[in-house]
Amino acid sequence: MSDQDHLTTQPSSPASSHDPQCIFCRIARGDFGTVFLHQDQDVVAFADLHPQAPVHVLVIPRRHVASLADTAPADNALLGRLLAAVRSVAAQLGVAATGYRTVLNTGSDGGQSVHHLHAHLLAGRSLGWPPG
Ligand code: AMP
Repeated sequence: MSDQDHLTTQPSSPASSHDPQCIFCRIARGDFGTVFLHQDQDVVAFADLHPQAPVHVLVIPRRHVASLADTAPADNALLGRLLAAVRSVAAQLGVAATGYRTVLNTGSDGGQSVHHLHAHLLAGRSLGWPPG
């Protein structure tokens, strides 16, 4: 197997990957008793601490993955489940019809401040474009 084959067949981190220094890993583990708007075996969703819109939810993988840029092709199914959870939470919160924005800030120019992959679900007002 070549190095490239390894990259395409291995996920970016093992299913049990947990970083005790990572706030989102700890939230996903339930360390703070966070209310989950959605939870399944792979992802959890919870309210953002500093909401930027009437609806502002974060959807994260349970296992530690630093960012979208750190994912591998073997993580594609997980990325699909992350987006499916966004869709599900949007429907649950009644914003699917009016619309919403899904944002994955990646790296420093992307404005990522928490280095655990997360999708923002923003809704409940008309959102401007382009973003800042
Ligand atoms: P980003 O800038 O894309 O990395 O987004 C990180 C988001 O995490 C920000 O919107 C923060 O308000 C949010 N955040 C940080 N810490 C917490 C926390 N303990 N609980 C909920 N949201 C948080």
